[in-house]
Formats: sequence, structure tokens, C-alpha cells
Amino acid sequence: MERVKKPEWLKISIGSNERYTDTKRIVESNKLHTICSSGRCPNMGECWGKGTATFMICGDVCTRSCKFCNTLTGKPLPLNPEEPKKVAESIRLMNLSHAVITSVDRDDLPDLGASHWAKTLCEIKHLNPKTTTEVLIPDFQGKMELVDMVIEAKPDIISHNMETVRRISPVVRSAANYETSLKVIARVAQSGLVAKSGIMVGLGETPEEVKELMDDLLQQGCQILTIGQYLQPSHKHFPVAAYITPVQFDAYKESGLRKGFKQVESAPLVRSSYHAEKHILKNPTK
Ligand code: SF4
Ligand code: SF4
Repeated sequence: MERVKKPEWLKISIGSNERYTDTKRIVESNKLHTICSSGRCPNMGECWGKGTATFMICGDVCTRSCKFCNTLTGKPLPLNPEEPKKVAESIRLMNLSHAVITSVDRDDLPDLGASHWAKTLCEIKHLNPKTTTEVLIPDFQGKMELVDMVIEAKPDIISHNMETVRRISPVVRSAANYETSLKVIARVAQSGLVAKSGIMVGLGETPEEVKELMDDLLQQGCQILTIGQYLQPSHKHFPVAAYITPVQFDAYKESGLRKGFKQVESAPLVRSSYHAEKHILKNPTK
């Protein structure tokens, strides 16, 4: 596929300040991982500069290998039993009012990492009772008893990303399945917690397919949707099919809100955890 030139609206300034350095120090001194750096997120300058980051638990090696993702893949190390506490302590040190946690997929573990998720949430709540929590979970291979372990740990928002439209899903997602992801979202919504999802655009989808995806999500009870531009992390990853214009992003937002989402974040640099604290303000749980 011919390479598409990156437009002006995606050029970002890296910039760092004192809070950026503090965030980096806390993450590194506790030997934690973040999706911000693993995923080479373009918003690191802004988020870390404001003292916020998205922790990635269960290690930094994923058992899957999605074609768009920059996270390391292969055979992961055993879980670090200290990680839940370290994450909770870091959240306290960073004084976060809203904490976002994600993980790599651990298809190698008997419970796919679900009990480690529950422990992490328990430690976070114990040390930071006023902090709201948002978790971006894997599909747990569609095993609802494992999804329930996270639900029972009572985060405020549970997100599971669809990543892309139905047609492209099997092309770029490794081991995940469009229908299974919808079922995970339905389970979260049925539990009464706020269900959220996110997609990347620019992978070759059409606006009609994005609208069909919105309908599928709404049918499951999803309330919040994030839409951002896919950026190819390296030449080995899936190529960018198109840079979606800011006008089209606005049109997606309008259409999502009209269809019934409570909140839609849609802009080139939006990622599922970008400005996540705004979602809790609009969906207060505490
Ligand atoms: Fe990346 Fe896919 Fe692993 Fe998620 S499941 S961390 S998107 S490789
Ligand atoms: Fe990290 Fe999310 Fe901000 Fe990116 S948008 S830097 S992943 S907190």
C-alpha cells in the first residue's frame, strides 16, 4: 500500500515540564509500565505534563500481537505480586483524582490475569478511597466469569476497545473477535457500571461502517465512545490507509451523540484514556 503523508494537524510538540519529569520518576522508580510509553502515545507530553498516565499491569509483554499495536509480544514473565501495591502507591504519589489502568493480554495464565486485575483495584481503592477508577480490560477470551471478577472489584468505568469496524477486525486484531468484544461490553452494561469503548479510524473503514459499529455498541448499552486516528508505530505495523480530517471526526461525534451515546470524544489525537477524567465528571459515581 502506498504510504500516506502525515497531515499538519497530527504534528505535536513533545515538550516536557517539571510534572512530566515527576511522572516519569514515579513510574520508573516503581518499575511500572504505562501504555503511554509502550504504545508510543502522541499525547505523552500533554498527559504526563499534567501529572497523569495510564498504568499497564500484568507486565509489559502481551501474548497477542495485533497488527496496529506497539506493545512487546511473546512469552511474558510471571506476574509481579508487588505490582498492585506499586500501582496504588504511584496513584497516591501522583495525587490522581481519576486513575486509568489497562493491561497486556495474558492468555498464558489460568485466569487470564483476572485475579491480578481484582487485586490491583482493591489496592488502589484501599490507598486512594477518593480516586475514581477506569479500567480498559481485555476480552478475557469471552469468559464472563473472569469479566465478572473485574466488575465485582467495582471500578467506576469499564472500557473494552472494539479497535475497529467489523470487517477490519479479523485483519488487524490478534485472537480477538468482534462479537466477543460486544458481549464483554454488554456484560459490563448489564452490571450497572458505565461501559465505554474506543476505536481507531484510518485503517480503511468507511463512515457507514463506523456508524454500524456505533449501533452495535449502543445495542449493548455502551455509553461512552472514543475515536482517534490510527498512527503506524513502525514500518512493520499495519499501514495507515487514510488520515481522517478533523471535519470527519466532528461528523462522527455529532452522529454518535445523535444516536444516543452519552459522550463521544472524536478527534485525531484522541485515545481511550485521553482526558478520561472528563468522563467521570459527566458520569459522577462518587
Ligand atoms: Fe496490543 Fe493487541 Fe496485546 Fe492489546 S491485545 S496489548 S492491542 S497486542
Ligand atoms: Fe497516556 Fe492515555 Fe495520555 Fe496517551 S492519552 S499519554 S495513553 S494517558
